[in-house]
Amino acid sequence: MAKANGISCSFCGRPKSEVGILIAGVTGHICDSCISQAHQSVDEQMRFDHKSESKTDFKLLKPAHIKEHRDEYVIGQDDAKKILSVAVYNHYKRIALKTNTANEVEIEKSNVILVGRTGTGKTLLAKTIAKSLNVPFCIADATVLTEAGYVGEDVESILSRLLQAADYNVEAAERGIVFIDEIDKIARKSDNPSITRDVSGEGVQQALLKLLEGTEVNVPPQGGRKHPEQKMIKVNTSNILFVAGGAFDGIEKIIARRVNRNLIGFSGKNDVKIDSENLLQYIIPSDVKDFGLIPELIGRMPVLSYLDPLDEKALRRILTEPKNALVKQYVHLFALDGVDLKFDSDVLDFIVKKALEYKLGARGLRSICEAILTDAMFEIPSSKSTKELRVTMDYAELRFGKSTMAKLKIA
Ligand code: ADP
Repeated sequence: MAKANGISCSFCGRPKSEVGILIAGVTGHICDSCISQAHQSVDEQMRFDHKSESKTDFKLLKPAHIKEHRDEYVIGQDDAKKILSVAVYNHYKRIALKTNTANEVEIEKSNVILVGRTGTGKTLLAKTIAKSLNVPFCIADATVLTEAGYVGEDVESILSRLLQAADYNVEAAERGIVFIDEIDKIARKSDNPSITRDVSGEGVQQALLKLLEGTEVNVPPQGGRKHPEQKMIKVNTSNILFVAGGAFDGIEKIIARRVNRNLIGFSGKNDVKIDSENLLQYIIPSDVKDFGLIPELIGRMPVLSYLDPLDEKALRRILTEPKNALVKQYVHLFALDGVDLKFDSDVLDFIVKKALEYKLGARGLRSICEAILTDAMFEIPSSKSTKELRVTMDYAELRFGKSTMAKLKIA
């Protein structure tokens, strides 16, 4: 488009005097800002259409292999590890079968529910599996989800996160793993199904059903609520593995009631020993139903497992043993500043004791380490002379005593 007083951009029409660079083509010109806009559009299109293959390259590992991999990162929780490894293996075998052979026996999907106190490793278990299989993984919080039409996030937003984790590679996302945290918080408030439906809990469970069983969903790429003008991406959820986790506070009472009832009805001979300290190990789907998850949802999550509460011994191991154990991480952080960090053994016991006092599970370990080491991490990078830091009991008690955490009252 040539203007009377000279040449201009054939795309936006701006004259040469208003643009940085104007490049000539056979029959027109293009300015620098139109080039940059066009480049962005091409880039976005490429992201949706031709994603790299790296994330679709998942590895089908045998259950023992999957468990072995997790042993490097997750301490204890053997039952959950075994059950989850089998579920994951069957799930991905099912996908392989579907793509390789004409429909013979249809294997059902094995979505999982993990029940266990906070900070016992539910999220970590799911995350490490995804990592070992090289499939996209995301965490969604059930408490922010609402039924369509209410304030909050639509259930489809879960898939937006998965798409982001897969770099918008739809094919990879369709084989990913989604961890739905705090599933217990959307339980029906009353166990009486005849009561008027409660929107916050049962409505969201109903909305989740569709995703779990496998369906085509229109997903807003950036998450949040759907806008009519937003471009949607179609995602099929039939091969996505959903792992839901929750603390299910109070479910022990439901289990105890059932177990006791069964024992009485048994033979009168009380030779079955019940470990009342860890009742979660006896959990069955009907307990989860009595807690307030609707039967249809439980039906779509047929694999149920539990996590043990972490005792002193387990917490002590978590501090030092996993591949990325906290102590190893701090030693590495200090080494980057040229400082050799060492913990006395009784300091590690002190950290564990405090974590138990604060009832924060393994999550507490990190807060306590931070409370002890923050001063050192603040001062050491500016000090040229410090080459070593030995954390003794005196040092740990002093630093922890001064921290805000120490000032918090323990319930
Ligand atoms: P939740 O059960 O609440 O999902 P997480 O899996 O998020 O707990 O655990 C919180 C943190 O505690 C993890 O990042 C991990 O560092 C640590 N952790 C918890 N349980 C274990 C475990 N069994 N083995 C190793 N680390 C653990």
